[in-house]
Amino acid sequence: MTWIKDVFAPEKRQWEDFYRNRWQYDKIVRSTHGVNCTGSCSWNVYVKGGIVTWELQALDYPIISKDIPPHEPRGCQRGISCSWYLYSPLRVKYPYIRGVLLDLWNEAKKKFPDDLVGAWNSIAQDKAHRKTYQTARGKGGFRRADWAVVNEIMAAANIATIKRYGPDRIVGFSPIPAMSMASYAAGARFLQLMGGVNLSFYDWYCDLPRHHLKSGVNRQM
Ligand code: SF4
Repeated sequence: MTWIKDVFAPEKRQWEDFYRNRWQYDKIVRSTHGVNCTGSCSWNVYVKGGIVTWELQALDYPIISKDIPPHEPRGCQRGISCSWYLYSPLRVKYPYIRGVLLDLWNEAKKKFPDDLVGAWNSIAQDKAHRKTYQTARGKGGFRRADWAVVNEIMAAANIATIKRYGPDRIVGFSPIPAMSMASYAAGARFLQLMGGVNLSFYDWYCDLPRHHLKSGVNRQM
């Protein structure tokens, strides 16, 4: 270990450079966190060389009334560590599909090379096939796929459902009601143009609407 050099020069305070580097930035941008969160808290995001280095809660919410305490600081632990998530090796960057369904799809395509809707129907309308992929849910088994295949399956499944039941049986929801209607606008627009149904995850969770309703009632009283 001769290449390790012990430096005994506390008067140079070199260790401080580590902290200075850690908190350097070249611009501040305003943002929030799309981590399946309804908060939409306002954050100042510090960026260096295009990389988010750290975040700080914004403290400039307007005062609604002198009788109501200010909102800030708004923000949670999950939010302040969001920039770690951005660069985490665990972050999902590719489409994944349940392996058994992908196998069924590849087999069906061989049988129906010129009819992708027919290929999907041969899976979804077959009791045994349906059971195979439905009972695999919740057990992991995802396999990385490419967008071409995933888009093909989604398109075939959508058209098959429309032909059989009508477009209003296609339902989608935005994961974050406070912001996803805008940030996932392409999906929302797609559903609307197709005659599908837009929901938010409030409809799915069925929790916050009751809370809002209660607040509304309280306000009216
Ligand atoms: S700070 Fe927390 S509550 Fe606020 S937007 Fe970010 S993740 Fe949501």
